[in-house]
Amino acid sequence: MHLVSRIGWLRAAVLGANDGIVSTASLILGVAAASVATGQVLVTGIAGLVAGAMSMAAGEYVSVSSQADTEQADLARERAELAAQPALEREELARIYRARGLDERLAHEVAAQLMARDALAAHARDELGISEVTTARPIQAALASAASFSVGAALPLLMVAVLPRPWLVAGVALASLGFLALLGTIGARAGGAAVLRPTLRVTFWGAFAMAVTAGVGTLFGAAV
Ligand SMILES: [Zn+2]
Repeated sequence: MHLVSRIGWLRAAVLGANDGIVSTASLILGVAAASVATGQVLVTGIAGLVAGAMSMAAGEYVSVSSQADTEQADLARERAELAAQPALEREELARIYRARGLDERLAHEVAAQLMARDALAAHARDELGISEVTTARPIQAALASAASFSVGAALPLLMVAVLPRPWLVAGVALASLGFLALLGTIGARAGGAAVLRPTLRVTFWGAFAMAVTAGVGTLFGAAV
């Protein structure tokens, strides 16, 4: 079972798409409820897609970059410690293996052998918890979240493009809830978790967000 390594990016992709669906569908419903023409609804939705994707990318880039900075600083300090006091560092690593259940002699032997091969990698993994899988990649993360947001946002936009104006509000709302439920199911399945509860949760909060925005749109549409 290697679900954990795959759940990281998959969960990020599903969350990005969720965001895209909920925020774009809400925006569309808010504007459409204020009885605006289909063309304007579409333009607003597209602007929402672009703005959301940019903001997701920027936010992800900043957060993952600072994680990468922290990792780099940790590794640099570890490298310096290894050069300055290798014996102490070997003790430290052996203590970690002791704490995980190895006996004294084996813990020292494991520490010595792993450090002979690649001391920094051994300390990074077992002391700092930094591995190949967790190493932060800001650009990749930014592109991935912008892309997954855009895919999600495109779904309600597509509904605006194909639905006749009188069905627009109900059609976008229902289709978006359907997409959310589908994504929730895919996410839960892939993560090996139970399906029903996460699906209901994501669908409920999606419906809530859309209802609030549509309500605000109706108020302003009546007032303007
Ligand atoms: Zn160390």
